[in-house]
Amino acid sequence: MLDRLDQQPADALLALIKLYDADPRADKIDLGVGVYRTDDGATPVFAAVKAAEQKLVAEQDSKAYLGPEGDMGFVHALMPYVFGAQNPTMDGRIDGMQAPGGTGGLRLAFALAKRAGIKRIITGGPTWPNHPQILADLGMESVNFNHARADGTADLDALRTAIANAQDGDALLLHGCCHNPTGIDYTPAQWDEIAALVADSGLLPIIDLAYQGLGQGMEEDAAGMRKVLAAVPEALICYSCDKNFGLYRERVGALYVLTRSAADTAKVLTNGHILARVNWSQPPDHGAAAARIVLEDAGLTRQWLAELDEMRGRMREVRDALAAADNRVAGLDLTAIATQNGLFSILNLDKDQILAIRERHGVYMAGSGRINVAGLTMGNIEKFIAALADVAG
Ligand code: PMP
Repeated sequence: MLDRLDQQPADALLALIKLYDADPRADKIDLGVGVYRTDDGATPVFAAVKAAEQKLVAEQDSKAYLGPEGDMGFVHALMPYVFGAQNPTMDGRIDGMQAPGGTGGLRLAFALAKRAGIKRIITGGPTWPNHPQILADLGMESVNFNHARADGTADLDALRTAIANAQDGDALLLHGCCHNPTGIDYTPAQWDEIAALVADSGLLPIIDLAYQGLGQGMEEDAAGMRKVLAAVPEALICYSCDKNFGLYRERVGALYVLTRSAADTAKVLTNGHILARVNWSQPPDHGAAAARIVLEDAGLTRQWLAELDEMRGRMREVRDALAAADNRVAGLDLTAIATQNGLFSILNLDKDQILAIRERHGVYMAGSGRINVAGLTMGNIEKFIAALADVAG
């Protein structure tokens, strides 16, 4: 029976890693995979996380089950950062549960929406490919609108039209910050308008916040989402700590639910608990426990935030350096890269140019033209700019 299954294509980015690994050139550049890299090209464990892990190993006295909601100490310790220190539960209307990474949070959010009778999720494209893939797996429909304009800004007209054309019972998926793959986030004024439009439309907002702290700052990166939450009765928030704590393989995330009342939130979360139970039973503990220990300790929290500041500063430097090289690369507009946020931006290169930059210069980027700006360092950026000038000119 299993032979009825068709061969599936290999993940394009994983295939790119294999090609990169097999390339013998010493000065090759990997701009494919979406992990942060230091100026030395490393993806180290945060020092604050390392210290928390040591404490965890020394002090943990049981590994007995916690339940489908995971480590609620972690879920609650994160809330002031996500929803604001003033009123992180929005008067008891927000609560959450741990999930295996941001992906687990998204899976729960979409499945909860489905349980609530939602069939269609309005999604700006291009988006992270796993969004439509999870929706398809759940038998839900993605309704697409154009996220980015050619000038490197958000296409608000397309979003306005998508909201105006929404049907009763639709949901709207928004990236909270550091849009993947374009790096194009909404401005504060655009978020004001989006919050008002979403509130008027009755759409259920589902907000994917996978890179808080890697764009403009912890508060700034949550500000747009908070405007939406302040305007609507209900929302789902999918959170990842895999980037901003560097915990990628530990799979650390959460789902938060905003409803009209604390009682409704508790009721909705019982549905989340059942969904967790049938999918993975309980989320993995180690990474979330380490993040909780960081968040419970003022010194470790300061260290974590300082490490995050440094990462954000480095990516800003790379973005500024690329934008400043705009006049050296004919045929490509690099200026908008400085206004974009997070790990990713898209370069307007065609398939032949993407192949040429790989073959001639050993620069590996996704077929969409997406680059991970953290793959660039002050040591390799000159080579990258020269390679771009060669293929784009
Ligand atoms: N949302 C977006 C937009 C992402 O880019 C990613 C990770 N690439 C995720 C969610 C999921 O992150 P995690 O690794 O925590 O599952």
